[in-house]
Parts: sequence; C-alpha cells; structure tokens
Amino acid sequence: MIVTFQNGIYLTAEDFQNAFTIDNNHIDTSPDWIAPRQSSDVFEGDISGVQSIQELRNAIVGRNYRWPNAVIPYIIAAPFTIAERGVIARALMEYHNRTCIRFVPRTIQPDYIVFRTTGSGCNSNVGRTGGAQTVSLDQGCVHVGLIIHELMHAAGFYHEQARTDRDDYVVINWANIQDGCICTPKL
Ligand SMILES: [Zn+2]
Repeated sequence: MIVTFQNGIYLTAEDFQNAFTIDNNHIDTSPDWIAPRQSSDVFEGDISGVQSIQELRNAIVGRNYRWPNAVIPYIIAAPFTIAERGVIARALMEYHNRTCIRFVPRTIQPDYIVFRTTGSGCNSNVGRTGGAQTVSLDQGCVHVGLIIHELMHAAGFYHEQARTDRDDYVVINWANIQDGCICTPKL
C-alpha cells in the first residue's frame, strides 16, 4: 500500500504534543453531536460488519477477534489536519493512560486498523477482523470521546446500551429516541 498523505501514516511526537492543547470543540461530550453522525445504514448507527448480535456478552466472543497482547497496530490513511491528528493522539493517550491496550504504528503486522474517511460516518468493526480494517472518521467524527468510542468497538466491544442485562440497570425513555436510532437489546 502506498500512502502519500502529507502528514504521514503514523502519529508523530508533535501530534502527541498537540494532544495536550486541542480545541475544546474536539473534547465536547454533549449528546448533540453524536446522533447526526451515525448512519442508519450501519448496525446500531456505527458498527460495521455486523447485522445482528447473538451473544449474551458485551464483548465479542472468540479468540480470533482479540488483538494479541492487547496491541492494536494502526495507520492513518486520510489527510487529517494537524489539529485533527492531535485529537486522535489524545484518544490514543486516554487508552494508554487508563487501559492495558496499546496502539502502535503498524509495520509488518498482518492485522491492523486504518483511520480513514469513508463517507459512511463514524464507525468501526467489532474486534480484530483480520487484515486491514477501517475505523471511519468522517467530518464531525474527530472528537476525543467519539474516537474512544469507535476504538472500543475495534477492541471488541458492542454497545453498553444494548447489553442483555441492560433493563436490569436502566430505564429506557423510549419516547426520547429518534426514529431509526433504536438499539435493540441482544437475545
Ligand atoms: Zn458505537
């Protein structure tokens, strides 16, 4: 694969430095910016490669879906701006600071994630699918919380709001859910 994006396929030390000074607009966790960037064409708005869930657990079941040693290789294959790269770096830093998951520049690893724009919104597969897999970050997706969200899918997790035991813990205000945005509980 030949990638020629000017800012490079890996985050740089400068990008991680910029992660400390990103614009507040890229940190906002207001629900207002989540809904419009989901796609009704994708399972539960942002999960690609899945039509339904048959599992009782919230993490995908199967050793083949796991990332060996919790290491997720990545490349960047879209012309994100320097500011946007700082936001992506910030999201990765949150993982590195709070979890055992490590994102590393992909060199020869056969399986890896690719940050790119696709026209399909913000979405990801669940778990390691094999080969290159897309984490789609279209315009409006480059927010720290949203990138962390999509990377949770890439790490192997479905939505908390669709857990089988969801209704034991929360009450859903169905009237507040927009048409086309319902996440049905798993079996
Ligand atoms: Zn999601």
